Amino acid sequence: MPTPAEKNALFQRDGYHCRFCGIPVIRREVRDRIRKVYPDALRWAAKNAEQHATFQLMWATCDHVLPHSRGGTSDLDNTIIVCQPCNCARWHYTLDEVGLADPRLREPTRSSWDGLERFR
Ligand SMILES: [Zn+2]
Repeated sequence: MPTPAEKNALFQRDGYHCRFCGIPVIRREVRDRIRKVYPDALRWAAKNAEQHATFQLMWATCDHVLPHSRGGTSDLDNTIIVCQPCNCARWHYTLDEVGLADPRLREPTRSSWDGLERFR
């Protein structure tokens, strides 16, 4: 997995949006900070049913474009920021196997969304 500095670079490059579907995402560290400030509003436990649905959907993960299980490296060129649903849906399949275009061939989604980084 990327180092903290590499993660920062990935978020800057990918603009706090999923590289596959383009939805805004929030990194785990930000979610954990918000949860500490608003524990009653942001439920988060081990089971999916015990997790706040919006934060679960917007959960940013680092994904290997060529899956690690298929020999993909953790180099930044092979790593992208994606939402949890896209990461889980593709699982260990290659882009060709699931019929997805390579998201690295198009510009990342840009908007005023900043990933709520001010909570870090
Ligand atoms: Zn997505």
